[in-house]
Amino acid sequence: DKGLAVFTSGGDSQGMNAAVRACVRMAIYLGCKAYFIREGYQGMVDGGEYIQEANWASVSSIIHRGGTIIGSARCKDFRERAGRLKAANNLIQRGITNLVVIGGDGSLTGANLFRQEWSSLLEELLKDGTITEEQRKKFDVLHIVGLVGSIDNDFCGTDMTIGTDSALHRIIEAIDAISSTAYSHQRTFIMEVMGRHCGYLAISAAIATEADYLFIPEEPVPLNWQELICQKLTQERSAGQRLNIVIVAEGAMDREGNPITAEHVKKVIDDRLKHDARITVLGHVQRGGNPSAFDRILACRMGAEATLALMEATEESVPVVISLDGNQAVRVPLMECVERTQAVAKAMAERRWADAVKLRGRS
Ligand code: ADP
Repeated sequence: DKGLAVFTSGGDSQGMNAAVRACVRMAIYLGCKAYFIREGYQGMVDGGEYIQEANWASVSSIIHRGGTIIGSARCKDFRERAGRLKAANNLIQRGITNLVVIGGDGSLTGANLFRQEWSSLLEELLKDGTITEEQRKKFDVLHIVGLVGSIDNDFCGTDMTIGTDSALHRIIEAIDAISSTAYSHQRTFIMEVMGRHCGYLAISAAIATEADYLFIPEEPVPLNWQELICQKLTQERSAGQRLNIVIVAEGAMDREGNPITAEHVKKVIDDRLKHDARITVLGHVQRGGNPSAFDRILACRMGAEATLALMEATEESVPVVISLDGNQAVRVPLMECVERTQAVAKAMAERRWADAVKLRGRS
């Protein structure tokens, strides 16, 4: 008789709907009441119509849709204890003590904090008469499980995050489309792709499209990169190649930590080679469109596993994220992954690139 609620928080990514669907359906299948919380933590704080019971049909025909049908938001209120107190009351009033949070490391950190504070929030609600002693006893533990939705594949502890594969498809489709026009004119295309701390999208796209040059955050280029890129492009042109592709990840930099943008690269090519160089910034196109088969299936497996993990949780179990390890969906302690992810970001900011790569591990 305890409910399970699912919500999406922070930036959206393709495949979130498939994850929501799997959580809801597995919960119903196991005989548990399922709820949506709309607009992330904001909906949890505001309650009312933002928290809605879900049924089998309410998650029908969403698996192929991009973004998140239940909405996502950033929420200031949840960062304050007063906001979390309201959120706790809204959950108790509906009998919800199981949460699946689908988001990035910020959203998962918030969920972990909420769980840690749960007993003291309940004490406070009991003291001011908002909840009864019976309710406090009945709903005394909050279980949470995280799923990572992020197109950058920037979360430690999982081989792939939900949305990355679809974003990669978008990038490759765009580069293929541009290649066919560029081929007629001898051009250099400079593509800026997402990835502030993580070059996964850039490097995978570069391999898949035969790019000539690549800039990623983890491996800053030497300070004479201008010469190196010109040499490489000249070499390709003299070998008869009519089209050059250069990929720049958002967080790219040189070995002194100076940012390298698509504009910098264009200027070098314009000034030194006098090639016709064009910039394409893919931006939100990468988040858009339908999720790939891989993301739909990944999200289905992760969502089902999230619900199972919640149903099996005991008072002692630590919050987990569902990760892909090899080809297995596994449960990994949530805070361990969040802390490692934050340590990678810190190492990158302090220009300790080798440490960042080591910390990130296999994924
Ligand atoms: P992401 O989940 O994509 O990393 P954010 O970092 O913006 O995105 O986090 C999304 C939301 O999660 C925030 O708007 C806030 O409501 C909540 N949140 C993030 N960090 C915390 C925190 N330390 N304490 C409480 N809530 C947090």
